[in-house]
Amino acid sequence: MLSKRLQEAINAQVNAEFWSAYLYLSMSVDASDRGDKGIANWFMVQFKEEQAHAQIFMNYLLSRGCKVELAPIAEVKKSWNSAIEAFKETLEHEKKVTSLIHNLYDIAVEDKDYASQSMLKWFIDEQVEEEESAQDIIDQLEKVDDSKLGLYMIDKDLSTRTYTTPAPLVGKE
Ligand code: MG
Repeated sequence: MLSKRLQEAINAQVNAEFWSAYLYLSMSVDASDRGDKGIANWFMVQFKEEQAHAQIFMNYLLSRGCKVELAPIAEVKKSWNSAIEAFKETLEHEKKVTSLIHNLYDIAVEDKDYASQSMLKWFIDEQVEEEESAQDIIDQLEKVDDSKLGLYMIDKDLSTRTYTTPAPLVGKE
């Protein structure tokens, strides 16, 4: 059985993942408004991934006989001035999520809860990728600066991103 503290922290993480999904959905519609269709696609895939993250945590709670408690999702920002502003905010947000995941792992270690530590390792690796991909796009956007052709090329590239079910959720959706 999970400790009460860890159950509450994982339930809070479910909410944090749904909030992330909602943030990226907002960034997606905002990018569509600006005419950046590829960037809108990238954030729409991100929206789906965050819902999958929430689902992985919910499945884990259920598999350990714990109650899933869904709390209201707080409001998110509605518009950004530019693509780079949205991606910089994405990176900052993912750094915060990384610290939340690390905190969950710290609790699991203190609790000597080995199953939870094992489950969380996937998320620790996932966060490295999340931060790296946001940073890569920021680097590209900084390189092209105000070039409309450059932004067009990046937008075209980001239009090719497709959603794939994260490994822990395969066969469980
Ligand atoms: Mg996430």
